[in-house]
Amino acid sequence: MEKVQCVHCGQDWVRRYRRKDSGQVFFMCPECESLWLEEEDLHDETDLYLSEFLLTGDSAKDWEAIELCAGPTP
Ligand SMILES: [Zn+2]
Repeated sequence: MEKVQCVHCGQDWVRRYRRKDSGQVFFMCPECESLWLEEEDLHDETDLYLSEFLLTGDSAKDWEAIELCAGPTP
């Protein structure tokens, strides 16, 4: 996978993550928590954020509910 800079903040690379509960893979910028679903184009804008995606209701737990995805290294 090519390195894609976050189109929102430009501060970090978009990385691949996985939900621990469902195993669903997605892409996210760790800096601003902008989130893309697996089939979406990382070069496009996204309206989704980590908290809206997980809906844990507690943003402090959001990062515990996901893990950095192993696999092809970006
Ligand atoms: Zn960002």
